[in-house]
Amino acid sequence: MKTIDDINFKNKKALVRVDFNVPLNDNFEVTDGTRIISAKPTIIKILEDGGSCILMSHLGRPKGVQDQFSLKHIVDKVEEIIGVEVKFVNNCVGEEVEAVATNLQPGQILLLENLRFHDEEKQGDEAFAKQLAKLGDIYVNDAFGTAHRAHASTTVVAKFFPEYKCFGKLLAKEIESIDKVMTSGEKPVLAVLGGAKVSSKITIIENILDKVDHLIIGGGMTFTFIKAQGGNIGDSICEDDKMELALDILKQAKSKNVQIHLPADVIAADAFSNDALTQIVDANKIPHGWQGLDCGPKSIVLFDEIVNQCKTILWNGPLGVFEMESFASGTIALGDSIAKATKNGAFSLVGGGDSVAAVKQFGFEDKVSYVSTGGGAMLESLEGKTLPGIAAIIN
Ligand code: AMP
Repeated sequence: MKTIDDINFKNKKALVRVDFNVPLNDNFEVTDGTRIISAKPTIIKILEDGGSCILMSHLGRPKGVQDQFSLKHIVDKVEEIIGVEVKFVNNCVGEEVEAVATNLQPGQILLLENLRFHDEEKQGDEAFAKQLAKLGDIYVNDAFGTAHRAHASTTVVAKFFPEYKCFGKLLAKEIESIDKVMTSGEKPVLAVLGGAKVSSKITIIENILDKVDHLIIGGGMTFTFIKAQGGNIGDSICEDDKMELALDILKQAKSKNVQIHLPADVIAADAFSNDALTQIVDANKIPHGWQGLDCGPKSIVLFDEIVNQCKTILWNGPLGVFEMESFASGTIALGDSIAKATKNGAFSLVGGGDSVAAVKQFGFEDKVSYVSTGGGAMLESLEGKTLPGIAAIIN
């Protein structure tokens, strides 16, 4: 895997695909600069080598050129975070942009206008990618969040740099972390999959059965498995059309020697509400009129034991409706267990949408080994797909 650490950027212009798709408020101020902070190490390395950076990104989902999606709004924030003056051009291709790029000096940063102001970006248009490629000497991809897209700036552009292309530090770290779980992780390996539905996680479950020793299934997914095995799930969320599949997964797990752990008990509520009446019941004995919205105390103890036996841990999806305080304790307890295991030497990766939100909300971000920055890209990696943005650099 070729990363920017393998290249000396002295007097070179790096064309860097970053993910500066940051949230803005009504005054067009950046409300969360995490993504800019994440790209900083890559940018600094290039500048310290004596190179210059041409940064390209998308922002939002513009339809044509729309001022509210202009990257000019983030220039001040990028300067503040990187600590270097940032030049800005109001397009990302064309003669004017080429002239500014040509005159860029070592140590300088140029930010291009929103790539998605051109439809050709999402279409993966080759001529557009070629115009982008003209701007730099070396292509660096540091945008994991868009690595699953075969867009012009994330994938197609790489073909114009057959020798001079590499991963930025952030993307390299993402790839390494996923690799640690999926191929080179120290055993025993555990995956914890939660969230609402089996259907959205099925490809991940099937792919992961070949990689793990233990699989904890939590959240709303639980009930499809429990009902399929003849349990009473009351009014809990369930995908009846996935029950066959659930039984098949249990069978496959057995033949692959993977131990599947489902919650033993749950917190059942008489309504999908934070103020609902609750009771703790066995996960397969939920009374009619009640729904399981979090795992119960026995499950927390059981999951803690499993987590602490394992040396490599992947966590995707909450164990309950963590957005409601009354049903957050299972997810918080799991975060605590994973934090403890990490402190004792396990490698832990948290990735994919809601589990990342949960980890941030409950303050576990710095207590796990790595929190992935890419939602869709992470899920597709766990499904075993090769992401086009990654393949374009490797091949
Ligand atoms: P996902 O996007 O598939 O990871 O699902 C995340 C969502 O699953 C969160 O919004 C949780 O509130 C929801 N969830 C977790 N456990 C349950 C449950 N027992 N019943 C209903 N929804 C749940």
